Amino acid sequence: MKTYPLYINGEFVAPESSATLDVIDPSTTDVIARVPDAGAADVARAVRAARMAFDEGAWKETTAQERGRILFKIAEAVRARASELAELECRNTGKPIVEAEFDVADVATCFEYYGGMATKIHGDVIPVPDNAMSLALREPIGVAGQIIPWNYPLMMAAWKLAPAICAGCTTVLKPAEQTPLTVLELASSFADCGLPPGVINIVTGVGENAGAAIVDHPDVDKIAFTGSAEVGKAIMRGAAGTLKKISLELGGKSPNIFFADADFDVAVEGALFGIFVNQGEVCSAGSRILVQRPIYKKFLDAMVEKARGITLGPPLDRETKMGALVSREQFDRVLEYQEIGKREAKIALGGGRAKGQALERGYFVEPTIFYDVDNSNRIAREEIFGPVASVIPFDTEEDALRIANDTYYGLAAAVWTRDIFRAMRTVKNLRAGIVWVNHMQPTYVEAPWGGYKQSGIGRELGKWGVEEYLNVKQVYINLSEQPIGWY
Ligand code: NAP
Ligand code: MG
Repeated sequence: MKTYPLYINGEFVAPESSATLDVIDPSTTDVIARVPDAGAADVARAVRAARMAFDEGAWKETTAQERGRILFKIAEAVRARASELAELECRNTGKPIVEAEFDVADVATCFEYYGGMATKIHGDVIPVPDNAMSLALREPIGVAGQIIPWNYPLMMAAWKLAPAICAGCTTVLKPAEQTPLTVLELASSFADCGLPPGVINIVTGVGENAGAAIVDHPDVDKIAFTGSAEVGKAIMRGAAGTLKKISLELGGKSPNIFFADADFDVAVEGALFGIFVNQGEVCSAGSRILVQRPIYKKFLDAMVEKARGITLGPPLDRETKMGALVSREQFDRVLEYQEIGKREAKIALGGGRAKGQALERGYFVEPTIFYDVDNSNRIAREEIFGPVASVIPFDTEEDALRIANDTYYGLAAAVWTRDIFRAMRTVKNLRAGIVWVNHMQPTYVEAPWGGYKQSGIGRELGKWGVEEYLNVKQVYINLSEQPIGWY
């Protein structure tokens, strides 16, 4: 079993203290690795390295083209190591191997995309009413503190690291305590890709300790966070102390809306995919399934029928369609919501721990479908982050919109109909940062990702993602050699 060190200033280094965190395979609960439980002193060391690299090191002199090349090389390294990284991700998260392979491919695409963008960041020339030239330069913000969750560990790291490097920032990244392995493994390729020391630093540890130390550190210029709304609010408060820029990608309770005219079989599968992919541990999970009354009963029956066929099994098995939840904590949380749901609504499928020999040791739960859910129920309001669907009936388009928007969240939404007028009206009236029509979940590095309302601040991915790592500098160049003549 491997014990990992920290990755600081281009080297794998021992932490200040000997405290470690066990990293498990949640499908068996076996401990598969250990990582440092880093504290404020380790964070300070990592921030120092990132600061030095940004302020004084070779990174400052690196051209946009060179940064782009480094990102392309990291993408190549990810592709070369894809099967190893996917297997490790699968073992550490409990997600099906086939899904982990898609994740790793997306990781490579993300580095590649921002590799291409590095040479396309440019400023503006502004017409001002004087004999002068006015410019807006776009400069890297500095040292970014990046804190990420456990549901897509390497992908969340890529979404943070790639745009930061593209912009010319340096970073200190803290992975989730449960899933630190793939990004640490990838770090062993960084030097070969030409990344100078100190540009990326990886500090493992727990949120309240290592995470909070990053947020508090006065030499960190910006915090990029993905995780729960609750922790997002704590981070916003913490960052206020040093007035750091923040971007927050938080949770959701996303509505997946089915009108009666939707293509029935495709829609049923879309409802299941929306909530059961990645065991429902998806920030944009379609956890509220709104179904129009004329098809409500038939739709629910078809969902249940099809969901019975979802194969739960060992994550490394290629036939597995749903794996284990990531941790004991998450497992207990989902079991608790299953009990809450039984009191609040009717149950059509699942509702407990998954049974079966291969599943007994791990954190497997049954795909669960509640119906006749009222939008005021806790299972319709609170993010569960597991394979638990709340099916809610509605009558009219107005009802659907009212229910869909009746949430403090606003990350994503989807609408299924063959009526283009209704589809477009719904798109326009949904208050969410991402809206899918006749699909749910496809995500592209080229397109913006982020939430309305309490689902976050700022956007990741695409050209929007890099903006979060840039500052604007206004430059005025006087072209007149005349005296000002004021005094
Ligand atoms: P979490 O508890 O909010 O933790 C996220 C990260 O923040 C972890 O690295 C965590 O460390 C750290 N953290 C916790 N407390 C902190 C503090 N006081 N100061 C600084 N850092 C702190 O979320 P999670 O349980 O890992 O992930 C599930 C949640 O993430 C869900 O609510 C989901 O909706 C959200 N999510 C959102 C998106 C999106 O794109 N919008 C994507 C994925 C997930 P520990 O590892 O020690 O807890
Ligand atoms: Mg946590």
